[in-house]
Amino acid sequence: MKSERLQRIVQAGTCENDMEQKVMGVADSTITSEEEIQQVFAHLAECDSCRYLYEDYFAIHDDDGNLIEEGEIGETVELGMKLEPGSIVPLATDFMVEGQRAAVLSGEAVSMVEYRVPAGGDNVDVKVYPCDDTVSIQLSASGDGTRVILISPGTMETATVEKGIARFDNVMPGRFLLVINMRHLVTVTITK
Ligand SMILES: [Zn+2]
Repeated sequence: MKSERLQRIVQAGTCENDMEQKVMGVADSTITSEEEIQQVFAHLAECDSCRYLYEDYFAIHDDDGNLIEEGEIGETVELGMKLEPGSIVPLATDFMVEGQRAAVLSGEAVSMVEYRVPAGGDNVDVKVYPCDDTVSIQLSASGDGTRVILISPGTMETATVEKGIARFDNVMPGRFLLVINMRHLVTVTITK
């Protein structure tokens, strides 16, 4: 298990921006400056090697930051879909909820895509609704007050889970990163 995790990090190559130290500093909470945290999250959206490094930290540490022996490999969650007028076509079936698979495998466009992604011991439901040129993203999670950050090149938006839901509207297509509760990363790619 350990070598599998390390292999993934090694294969992603080294960070071109020498951000590893800062990434680890945010992961282990030694960096508390909101500005630096935002800088790191913005970087995670673009740098595979740092994203794996960040995920790896949580695979080998518990909630209190103590090292754990048998860490599960943090599953890399990547969601891909294509936005069409009034509908949306999921491009991969990973993490998609059961009921939608048949439609998707036959290439059908749907009016909403729903995924269930792992986030620690919990699952978070991610629903993506098409809306003209943009999408709305709704996350259903337990734990009101959980912070979700959406990061795309040059922008960062925060939503808080209230009554089990956090929502982002008017999200432009492209590649972006969702950070759930500071530790679970979901990469979303929406093409047009
Ligand atoms: Zn990096």
